[in-house]
Amino acid sequence: MKIRIERILAGICAFLAVADVSAAEQKIKVTATVTMVIDLVKQVGGDRVELQGLMGPGVDPHLYKATASDVIKLQQADVIFYSGLLLEGKIQDLFAKMARTKKHVYPVTEAIPLERLLEPPEFAGHYDPHVWFEVPLWEMCVETVVKGLSEFDPKGKDYFEARGKETRAKMKELHEWALKKSAELPKERRILVTSHDAYNYFGRAYGFQVVGLQGISTVTEAGLADMAKLVDFIKQKKVKAIFVESSVPHNTIERISKDAGVKIGGELFSDAMGTPGQIEKGYDLGTYEGMVKHNLNTIVDALK
Ligand SMILES: [Zn+2]
Repeated sequence: MKIRIERILAGICAFLAVADVSAAEQKIKVTATVTMVIDLVKQVGGDRVELQGLMGPGVDPHLYKATASDVIKLQQADVIFYSGLLLEGKIQDLFAKMARTKKHVYPVTEAIPLERLLEPPEFAGHYDPHVWFEVPLWEMCVETVVKGLSEFDPKGKDYFEARGKETRAKMKELHEWALKKSAELPKERRILVTSHDAYNYFGRAYGFQVVGLQGISTVTEAGLADMAKLVDFIKQKKVKAIFVESSVPHNTIERISKDAGVKIGGELFSDAMGTPGQIEKGYDLGTYEGMVKHNLNTIVDALK
């Protein structure tokens, strides 16, 4: 009898031990929208999160509509992160709906003070959502991810804070690098012509005059009058190169390149990063760091 009880107790202990391990290993299910936000969550969340993304490389978030499987990914998530400022214009309502349930839903850009946001007239009363190209602004967004993960998983708070600190330090270094890289171009050469207005923050941070053909969102297409104006501008300023974007069709910029007799200096990342594991000059194009470095290297080398 005594032996049987001991066996049963041992069995219960073993079961509890297994249960305890699986509880400790249970990761937070996180769903994030665009690649920049996915990367941010990966940096801060590390091994404690199981991450699902909605949009991959080359996907335009302004036009993106949620699929049935996206809705499932959002419903299954413990925590949801999106960029915000209407970047994900067509799925914004879905986040509001999710937030009304018990779910933890965070726009990462909520950490940026409003006075640091740009509100260009062509954005019709909205803030410009493309904040990730001013590295210190994106660095502020780390805070939202640390907060969001810690609120769901208080035991992981120290872990998330330590990783958040590391991420911010890397971004500080990246910003210093970007300042130095852009300074290789004399001020009058720093003119960036692209298809849509994704680089206003980049221009402010690194001293470029930025001219976008399509305005703040890719929803509106460029008219002929805008194209003619841009051709004149390029000729008058003797701009050496203009740029296409990975998440926007290339045809209008290609046409302007022909009409203005100016070369295309390369393809920039605007609203999506590159493919993870694709290495260029020692950095991974599928990371935030790789995205920023690729853009600046491409721009500076083409305009030199
Ligand atoms: Zn955009």
